[in-house]
Amino acid sequence: MIKFHTMPLGALQANCYIAEAEGGQCLIFDPGGEPDRLIAQLQSMDLQPVAVYLTHAHFDHIGGVDGVRRAYGVPVHLHQEEEDWLGDPMLNGSGRWPDLGTIGIAGPEKIISGEEERTEGPFRFRILHVPGHSPGSVAFHFPDEGVAVGGDALFKGSIGRTDLPGGDHETLLRSIHDKLLTLPGDTVILPGHGGPAVIEDEAMSNPFLNGFG
Ligand SMILES: [Zn+2]
Ligand SMILES: [Zn+2]
Repeated sequence: MIKFHTMPLGALQANCYIAEAEGGQCLIFDPGGEPDRLIAQLQSMDLQPVAVYLTHAHFDHIGGVDGVRRAYGVPVHLHQEEEDWLGDPMLNGSGRWPDLGTIGIAGPEKIISGEEERTEGPFRFRILHVPGHSPGSVAFHFPDEGVAVGGDALFKGSIGRTDLPGGDHETLLRSIHDKLLTLPGDTVILPGHGGPAVIEDEAMSNPFLNGFG
């Protein structure tokens, strides 16, 4: 069984998720900043990262990527629609809020090109393309655990903003409706900000989804 740990990182407190397998291997989702603190946490838990996966390449989700990459030499996975974003402050948004630190780093080692099943050591999950907040946004669904790492598409009681480059409100609603609300109702969404959301609760009461069919 995979265990998920939450660690809000960086100025915007984007949720970094650590997926831990028995035996100590882990995946890291969205290391958004403070890589030293993240690495110290991994060491204290005796965890060995095997890969970094990004839900999307906005600056608040990628600030710790290079620190983790340097410390562990693990590949970074990112959707092809945002292949150039890690190195481009205007695309990743850090150029718009320079007070928080401009980010221009090397691109991903591995490209996510579509919806696919992944088996990565002891981890088995499915990648869902959920564009709208950004064009290359993806969610990582772990069916055996009933958990999906969802990025900034769907939040508890809210949805992602769509005013940044490549964002589109109708596309986001369509992604949420087609890809996330169709997951089993008890699936726990681990979002990019704030606490977890449960699919059936959001389908019932999320005011941003009401009336969308
Ligand atoms: Zn974002
Ligand atoms: Zn975010």
